[in-house]
Amino acid sequence: MFNQLSDKLEGVFKNLRGQGKLSERNIKDAMTEVRLALLEADVDYSVARDFISSVRDEAMGEKVLKSVTPGQQIVKIFRDKLAELLGGDQAPLELTPPARILMVGLNGAGKTTTSAKLALRLKKEGRRPLLVACDLFRPAAIDQLETLAREIDVPVFTPDRDEKNVIKVAKQALKWAETQNGTVMIFDTAGRQEIDDALIRELEDLQKFLQAKEVLLVADSATGQQAVNVAKRFDEAVGISGIVLTKLDGDARGGAALSMRSVTGKPIKFSGVGEKIADFEAFVPDRLADRMLGMGDVVGLVEKAAEAVDEKDAMKMAERLASNQFDFNDFLQQMKFMKKLGPMENILGMLPGVGKKLKDINVDDGKMKRIEAIVLSMTPYERSRPEIINAKRRKRIAAGSGTNLTQVNQLLKQFSMMRKMMKNKGKMKGMMKQMGMGG
Ligand code: GDP
Repeated sequence: MFNQLSDKLEGVFKNLRGQGKLSERNIKDAMTEVRLALLEADVDYSVARDFISSVRDEAMGEKVLKSVTPGQQIVKIFRDKLAELLGGDQAPLELTPPARILMVGLNGAGKTTTSAKLALRLKKEGRRPLLVACDLFRPAAIDQLETLAREIDVPVFTPDRDEKNVIKVAKQALKWAETQNGTVMIFDTAGRQEIDDALIRELEDLQKFLQAKEVLLVADSATGQQAVNVAKRFDEAVGISGIVLTKLDGDARGGAALSMRSVTGKPIKFSGVGEKIADFEAFVPDRLADRMLGMGDVVGLVEKAAEAVDEKDAMKMAERLASNQFDFNDFLQQMKFMKKLGPMENILGMLPGVGKKLKDINVDDGKMKRIEAIVLSMTPYERSRPEIINAKRRKRIAAGSGTNLTQVNQLLKQFSMMRKMMKNKGKMKGMMKQMGMGG
């Protein structure tokens, strides 16, 4: 996410930080570089210009220049202004009853996927979402939403496949909803390749009828400035309450995210960060600014971990580690937990300082899978007593896991080394204590 922009910014700031004293010249030069980086990232021209001038004005102040750490202070100013540019405070959804969310956008932006992602999120928050398929234009859209809804176990209203009148569908859906005990309705609407009159008219009519308090524009971040223009035009035509920026996972530049708020005046409320239904996040400007500057998103990481792991399990694991009982069964459980956190790249990217370096690291998901296959090919008894795994057993495990003897040996050796390291109980306990886990 934003690798390209992040790399450039980190380069400029590393330079600034490294200097004890800064002159106005240094700052001007740095800001010129930052401005170029923003333009390369496809940030709107006037947004980039105004942003740079506001950072420069503050950075040139006496207080900064005369301070002991001028470089650090400028990074801080930049970071805060960046968060402001991304939208300031996180924008919540308006969900007072009757809570209705209209999802609008061009074809392929990710409307249908995002409708399901949002439903899952609301469900996790304890609400009772209902999905309504109102995309009567794209032939497969209704089936797609139906499949996704089943996957996340959310009720879905699907119209007759030859129905062409969207208002009729909306009416039927409201009637259906009366029997569903839902608390918030999400309407997936039709898109087009481009904004045209027919689309706008349809959305206008639909919104006039539904009076949804949330009209969320779904926009593909990879299209950069085009996404911003689309948002602006949708807003002028039907009025939007917020934006969902999709495909941020593949967006190296960040131009759409950075220009959206300033140009449209509307907040980005959520972001799509992958193809899976769970790949969906609230858009938090503060955290994103940190991530863009390679400062990581430790809060996000901790939240993710808390969602994925049960606290009791974590404590149990810590105890077993401390008492040197850790075996391959624990190892398997830990791998399962890692998987829940999502792809390795995403996790590493959230760690401070790793974002930039990540592109050089080849996270080997294949290797993880291989290790897992080996462990799964052990019997439960072997897993709990790895020392009994002799040559014959090794051969069987290699065959069973589709690996070879060398790979099995290597894993066993690494595991036994790890255990030896853990034998130093005193040290381990001290570490646990430091980490706030048990005593
Ligand atoms: P719609 O035409 O606007 O309803 O778009 P779809 O929901 O069918 O999505 C179009 C494509 O984009 C699908 O292949 C989705 O899997 C993909 N997609 C949607 N959101 C994201 C995202 O956040 N990240 C990635 N990588 N792909 C996404």
